[in-house]
Amino acid sequence: METLSALLYLVASVCFIMALRGLSSPETSRQGNLYGMVGMTIAIVTTLALPVVQSYWLIILGIAIGGGIGYVIANKIVMTALPQLVAAFHSLVGLAAVFVALAAYYQPEAYGIGVRGAIARGSLIEMALGTAIGAITFTGSLVAFAKLQGLVSGKPLVFPFQHQLNAALGVLTVLLVLWLVASNADAAMWLIVLAALALGFLLILPIGGADMPVVISMLNSYSGWAAAGIGFTLQNNLLIITGALVGSSGAILSYIMCKGMNRSIFNVILGGFGGDSAAAGAAAGGGERGTVKAGSPEDAAYIMKNAQSVIIVPGYGMAVAQAQHALREMADQLKKEGVEVKYAIHPVAGRMPGHMNVLLAEANVPYDEVFELEDINRDFQSADVAFVIGANDVTNPAAKTDPASPIYGMPILDVEKAKTVFFIKRSMASGYAGVENELFFRPNTMMLFGDAKKVTEEVVKSME
Ligand code: NDP
Repeated sequence: METLSALLYLVASVCFIMALRGLSSPETSRQGNLYGMVGMTIAIVTTLALPVVQSYWLIILGIAIGGGIGYVIANKIVMTALPQLVAAFHSLVGLAAVFVALAAYYQPEAYGIGVRGAIARGSLIEMALGTAIGAITFTGSLVAFAKLQGLVSGKPLVFPFQHQLNAALGVLTVLLVLWLVASNADAAMWLIVLAALALGFLLILPIGGADMPVVISMLNSYSGWAAAGIGFTLQNNLLIITGALVGSSGAILSYIMCKGMNRSIFNVILGGFGGDSAAAGAAAGGGERGTVKAGSPEDAAYIMKNAQSVIIVPGYGMAVAQAQHALREMADQLKKEGVEVKYAIHPVAGRMPGHMNVLLAEANVPYDEVFELEDINRDFQSADVAFVIGANDVTNPAAKTDPASPIYGMPILDVEKAKTVFFIKRSMASGYAGVENELFFRPNTMMLFGDAKKVTEEVVKSME
């Protein structure tokens, strides 16, 4: 049985690796998902058949309660609230890691890692690390959830000696781990939990709105490492492998997001970065502005029909309005008129990694029309129209020109280089980072005020 389960775990691990590989590109993502589902089914069935499982009742009860809650949430959740849902789920992974480690600490015999008060040193290290990472993930994810849900301000909350306090808590946690390993003292275990809970809270609190994408992927990575920690405690190889895969892919994603935002990961982790919107807003408010030109869907239809090339820039507003299908219809109409249509995707557009790609794929937009920032940015200068639909921060030139801006340094889509720029949005409001966009006042910009789906549908109607 042991050899068979090891073999099946290996097959499941390979499926997970294939899943990650598949998910790395929109063309293969469905296949990737399928691999993930097959791998997870093999993993669950194999684990349930292990001889250590003595009773199924508690497991069934757990699946019924957890599955029931998950089913209700999955049915109710709106697409735009997915980022905070992901943050909330990450917090549960962290909490589970803490609970499993504490269970093993108080009943080491059940886990075959020694007896109470004399747990094997290696196991104490694994437990302490799993607990610390799990507790940091738990409170950090709760703060991220509160920020994304709008329960807490998206602005960075900074106070004096913040970095010193975080560093002191980090050092304290390491010392407590050493104390636990040397003494197996209960107090050390509980103090690790408390220090790590405080650290998770303090680490995420100062991170500003614009840097939340990096935080989400970082917490994703932490939750993977926490799961790997549980794997060591439970001596379950598959959990170790899966946790490490989630941990490392989350770390790679954080790196990609940091590159996309032109941030150093240490700046983000150390906090107080990316969203002093009050200061930035004031700075932006003081500058010279032009007048705002508002146009109608008919104007947009006329100009685009007579263009040679149109680049569409989707953002969070497209997701809110669910305008992707109307947008595809518009693109189809334009292509019929002989206009070249491309889509430009910023790495942090929307509210989660790959958000725009998912929505465009849902509307069956051909993959070869969708380009990443670095592959399309040069094309704006030769484009007739940049059609910005519900995007704001990812086009804001303050990222290039205003060192006081929270988004300063982030590469942006150079939409202003197109001959005409259309912005579909409902008002003059700023984007997630809270920074005013001076492009709205430029002479080659035309605002199309209204809900993204409604306005796009009207553009399509006018074209017909
Ligand atoms: P922004 O949040 O900058 O702007 C979205 C714009 O959409 C708003 O200005 C809003 O203006 C408009 N809008 C909202 N609803 C509608 C609607 N129904 N119809 C038309 N317009 C609408 O989005 P971007 O995609 O440009 O940038 C993403 C931002 O989110 C970045 O700051 C990024 O750092 C951050 N972020 C990204 C994450 C990710 O992983 N991608 C995660 C967390 C944060 P108005 O109200 O006037 O309509």
